[in-house]
Amino acid sequence: MGKGTPSSAGGKIVHFRCRRCGKHSFHRQKRVCSSCGFGRTTTLRHYDWAKRH
Ligand SMILES: [Zn+2]
Repeated sequence: MGKGTPSSAGGKIVHFRCRRCGKHSFHRQKRVCSSCGFGRTTTLRHYDWAKRH
């Protein structure tokens, strides 16, 4: 008893592959991509405080 991990059980799918950024970050229920913000904004997510250059 107690062998294995519960993480592999269930198989609930939370994220789909985002068709805009191509990452596996599109939330199934929120219908928002956590990576690029697809579904939440009409433009690519970007913040002034997050720019790298
Ligand atoms: Zn995305």
